[in-house]
Amino acid sequence: MQEVRTRFPPSPTGYLHIGGARTALFNWLFARHHKGKFILRIEDTDVARSSKEALEGILEGLRWLGIDWDEGPYFQSQRIGIYGEYADRLLRTGKAYWCHCTPEDLEERRKLALARGDKPKYNGRCRDLNLERAHNAVIRFRSPLSGKTVVEDLIKGSVSFDNEELDDLIILRSDGYPTYNFAVVVDDITMNITHVIRGDDHLNNTPRQILIYEALGFPTPKFAHVPMILGSDRTRLSKRHGATSVLAYKEMGYVPQAMINYLVRLGWSYGDQEIFSMDEMIDKFSLDNIGKSSGIFNPQKLLWLNSHYIKEGSPYHLAKELLPFLRKKGYPVEDLNYVTKVVMTLQTRSKTLVDMANAAEFYFKEEITFEKKAAKRFLSPEMREVFQMLINGLHGLYPFDKVMAEKVFRDIQTKTNLSMTAFAQGVRVALTGTTVSPGLFEVMEVLGKERVLHRLEKAIEYIEAGD
Ligand code: GLU
Repeated sequence: MQEVRTRFPPSPTGYLHIGGARTALFNWLFARHHKGKFILRIEDTDVARSSKEALEGILEGLRWLGIDWDEGPYFQSQRIGIYGEYADRLLRTGKAYWCHCTPEDLEERRKLALARGDKPKYNGRCRDLNLERAHNAVIRFRSPLSGKTVVEDLIKGSVSFDNEELDDLIILRSDGYPTYNFAVVVDDITMNITHVIRGDDHLNNTPRQILIYEALGFPTPKFAHVPMILGSDRTRLSKRHGATSVLAYKEMGYVPQAMINYLVRLGWSYGDQEIFSMDEMIDKFSLDNIGKSSGIFNPQKLLWLNSHYIKEGSPYHLAKELLPFLRKKGYPVEDLNYVTKVVMTLQTRSKTLVDMANAAEFYFKEEITFEKKAAKRFLSPEMREVFQMLINGLHGLYPFDKVMAEKVFRDIQTKTNLSMTAFAQGVRVALTGTTVSPGLFEVMEVLGKERVLHRLEKAIEYIEAGD
């Protein structure tokens, strides 16, 4: 069987959108499933709107998601000569022609057509004039005037278009740059693309592209047009529905596994299964299971998946992912071993890495500050003696772990008349500054003896100062 080759061809004119990332993922999964190749191509012929920052952002987004490419990135702007060559072929065989109409002429005719109530399409003025190359001339494709072009789509089935509706589109502009429909065909031919999987907003372009394949004498690839992603109000997903940039989710503390798992289910399904490892996705992915209706973007589900992957994830990997969030809060932590232990206490309590970094702050502060209300209620004068007893009990403890710490804690609690709540919350406030934290003994073990004793001493000072 022929090697499967898919591609993702973003235009570097904006950020990597959720929809684009899903398209990339489907192409990537399809290639990986068939042990084929996934090609990255940058469609940067719109020089004015393309930028290096946008390109960097797209590449960073793909890398973050773990979508790697086997070839490329190819840049259309570096392939101008190739498009010229293919345009020449079409000129030689009479399938394309030079057009001298000026933008002003075209605009005038467009207005007239609209005024008459006609469709504003090119009227074919230069089609049979046999014109030569000239300054400001463009090359147009000679589109058939009648008949039908049928797109045999792997998702939509057969979709038929009347050729009459299709224009003699410009394939090469006067500056020698190709237009989208032409560049994409030349690229897909020369890059031996076997399957074009893309959003169904491109379905109307496909008959034009098929006619260009035919005119050049090449077989068409297989097409699969995936329904667009919609917002909860069933309009096309946009900023109104929340963040649509993949990297914005990275910044909000989402982990890539959650995003990938979310994206794969947006339009594709495998029975009722919701959670997929990367290997499972590759194994199970097929175009047959892509639905005919649009996927609805559901931020709550993405958040649910994120908490799932944070709960189940490897603490060491999460620790690495947490570092930039800690850095942003002013904790340039280096000790990955410590962060890993911190993560283990917070995995079940955090929906995002931002949540986790917030909840982790007390582990990294040199000196903690006590929340006013909590201190007033729980750092009461009678806790002074309790903290001292705890210091004495913990001081010689070895190993300093949660089991041993709990034993010391319980012995002291029975010796005092304090309620469990007053006792535990007092210690919690002393160690974390607040009344909400992971389990007290886990916290003690992770903080380690030195920090625990230091914080208890500080709490005693605070009580003595009588604030
Ligand atoms: N650059 C186009 C886009 O981003 C590519 C479309 C295609 O896959 O042909 O929409």
